[in-house]
Amino acid sequence: MTEIERHAFDVVVIGAGGAGLRAAIEARSRGMRTAVVCKSLFGKAHTVMAEGGIAAAMGNVNPNDGWQVHFRDTMRGGKFLNNWRMAELHAKEAPERVWELETYGALFDRTKDGRISQRNFGGHEYPRLAHVGDRTGLELIRTLQQQIVALQQRDFQEFGDYEAGLRVFGECTVTDLLVESGRVAGAFGYWRESGRFLLFEAPSVVLATGGIGKSYKVTSNSWEYTGDGHALALRAGAALINMEFVQFHPTGMVWPPSVKGILVTESVRGDGGVLRNSEGRRFMFDYIPEVFKEKYADNETEADRWYDDPDHNRRPPELLPRDEVARAINAEVKAGRGSPHGGVFLDIASRLPGEEIQRRLPSMYHQFRELADVDITREPMEVGPTCHYVMGGVEVDPDSAASGVPGLFAAGEVAGGMHGSNRLGGNSLSDLLVFGRRAGMGAASYVESIGQDRPTPVESEVDNAARWALAPFGERGPDGPPENPYTLQMELQQVMNDLVGIIRRSDEMEQALKKLDDLGRRVRNVMVEGHRQYNPGWHLALDLRNMVLVSECVARSALERTESRGGHTRDDFPQMDPEWRHQLLACELEHSESGESRADRMDGVRVLRRPQPAMRPDLLALFELAELTKFYLAEELAEHPSEKG
Ligand code: FAD
Repeated sequence: MTEIERHAFDVVVIGAGGAGLRAAIEARSRGMRTAVVCKSLFGKAHTVMAEGGIAAAMGNVNPNDGWQVHFRDTMRGGKFLNNWRMAELHAKEAPERVWELETYGALFDRTKDGRISQRNFGGHEYPRLAHVGDRTGLELIRTLQQQIVALQQRDFQEFGDYEAGLRVFGECTVTDLLVESGRVAGAFGYWRESGRFLLFEAPSVVLATGGIGKSYKVTSNSWEYTGDGHALALRAGAALINMEFVQFHPTGMVWPPSVKGILVTESVRGDGGVLRNSEGRRFMFDYIPEVFKEKYADNETEADRWYDDPDHNRRPPELLPRDEVARAINAEVKAGRGSPHGGVFLDIASRLPGEEIQRRLPSMYHQFRELADVDITREPMEVGPTCHYVMGGVEVDPDSAASGVPGLFAAGEVAGGMHGSNRLGGNSLSDLLVFGRRAGMGAASYVESIGQDRPTPVESEVDNAARWALAPFGERGPDGPPENPYTLQMELQQVMNDLVGIIRRSDEMEQALKKLDDLGRRVRNVMVEGHRQYNPGWHLALDLRNMVLVSECVARSALERTESRGGHTRDDFPQMDPEWRHQLLACELEHSESGESRADRMDGVRVLRRPQPAMRPDLLALFELAELTKFYLAEELAEHPSEKG
C-alpha cells in the first residue's frame, strides 16, 4: 500500500485566498484546530490579483450610501437572481469586515479628511470601493496572512508550538474529499513538490478554492482556477447552482497574443476612462438597456459632469454592469468597428494628466509598458472581453455557508448564489470576507455540535483516492490510446471559448456537450511520464478531470436556461424571461453502485430546477414597484407595500 502522511484537525480549509484565510482565522479564533491547505505558494492565491477594490457601503465619499443602496445595486446587477439573504448579509456586514481589516494592519487609501477612500465602479450607485491604488488584493492577502501569523505566535506563547492550533500546508493539492455515511470525514491530497500523499482526518472542510476560468482559452484567471472545489463538492454529493452564469470582464488585454486575457481593471473606467470604437465614437451610449435608462447619461456632456457632480447628473454608460459592457464591445467588434487586434479602445490618456494616471493606476501603467509596449498616459489601450469570474458554485445556506453535505462548507468564488446572474466589481473581495468569516463560524459550530461523534475515513476509500491519483502513471491500464494532458487542456479551452462563451446557441452547446463527453472519456486515458516528484504534467492530468466535469455543468445549465440574463447570453433566446427568474438550476452528480473509486461511481451531471425562495417583504419594499415588474411575475409582487395599499 502507498505511504500516506496523516494529520488530524477539527477544520480543514482548502484554499488560502481571501475566503480561505478569513475562514481559517474565524475557525481558529473559535478554538478549532485548523489547517489551511493551498495548491499555490502561501500568499500567491488568486486574490492577490484583485486590483480595483472592495465594495462596502461605508458612505465615506457620499453619505447617501448605506447597506440598502448596496443591496439594491447587487440585486440589480445580478438581475434579481441573487440569493437575497446572501446579498442582504453581504451589504450589511461588508463595512465591518473592511474596518476589521485595518485592525489587522491593512492601510487603505485615504480621503483628504483621513477616512478610507472609496472609488466608483460599474453598477455601484455611489463611490463604494475601498482600495489601495490598484493593488487592493495584495493588501488584503498581506494583512490576512499577518493575522494568521499573529494567531500562530499566540499559540507559540501558550503551547510552545507555532502550529499547535493553525497550520498551513502550502503547495499541497487536495484531490478528493472523504465522506463517511453521508458526512465529511476528511480530505486527501499530495505535496506538489514530492508527490507524496497526505490524509487530513477532519469532520469539517471549508472549500475556498476560487473559480473555473482556466477552462476557457481567453481568461484573466491564474493557473490554479481549475474548478477543483466545485468538482470536489459535486463528487462529495453537494449541488452546484447558477453554473450557466460566467462573467466575461469587458476589458482584458487583446494584444500581444501571449498576454491575451490579462485584466485591465474597471478602475480605469471608474476613474474616467472611456471606450471608443475604430471610428472614435464613444459607443456605450448606444447600448444602454431600457432598465438602466433612468440611471445612465445619454450624452457625453452629462456623463462627464457626473465625475464632479454625481448628485445632479446620471452616470456614464461605461460604468454599466460588466455583462452589458462586454456584450456592447462584442457587438462593436462583430460590426467591423473594432481595434486592429480585435478589441476596442480604452482611453484614459486624453482624460487625466499623465502623473495622475501613474498615481492612480500604477499596475496598469506598468502592465501595458512591460507587456504591450504601450504608454497608457499617451495612447489608448486595446481591450476586449475575457473570462473572469464564475457566479455559479456550491449551493450553501446563506447564514452558515453549509452545503447540503454535513460538514462541508464553501465560501468565496467557489460558492454560488450571492451574485445571481452577474457579479458587480468589488463585490467579490467583500464576499470573501463576509462569507469566509461565516464559513469559519459555521464549521466551528458544526464541529461543536457533533461532539465526539466524528466520522473517520474508511481505509478502502483512502486507498481508492490514492489509486485514482496515480492512474495517470498508467497503474490502472488505459482503455484507449494514451492521451497527453496538455493537448486535452487546449482542446477543452477551445471548446468552452468557441461553443459556451460570451454568446451562446443551443446547437453549439449541444456540440460542446458531445465534445465534453468525448474529452471526459479521453481524460481517463491521460498518461504522464516520469515520477511523482515535481511533475506538472501529472498535476494537470489531475486538474483536467475537474475542469471537464465543471465545464459540463456550465454547458448543461446554459443549454437548459432558455433566456438571456446577466452572464448568460443566448443568441436564440435574447430576452430576459420573468418565468425564469424564480428558477435556479442545480447540478448534481448521479451515483452508480459499481466502480472502483468514488470518482468511478459518478455517472454524469444532471440539471435540476429549483424554485428561487421568495424575497422577504421588507427587502422587496426597498425597490419601486415599477422596477420590480420588469423582473417579477405579478403574483410574486403581491407582498409589495404598493400592492397591499
Ligand atoms: P482564491 O483567492 O483564488 O484562492 C483560491 C485558493 O484555493 C488558492 O490558495 C489556491 O491555491 C487554492 N486551491 C485551489 N484548488 C485547490 C486544491 N485542489 N487543493 C488545494 N488548494 C487549492 N474582485 C473584487 O472584488 N475586486 C477587484 O478589484 C477584483 N479584481 C480582480 C482582478 C483580477 C485580475 C482577477 C482575475 C479577479 C479580480 N477580482 C476582483 C475577483 C477576485 O479576485 C476573486 O473572485 C477572489 O479573489 C477569489 O477569492 P477566493 O478566496 O474565493 O479564491
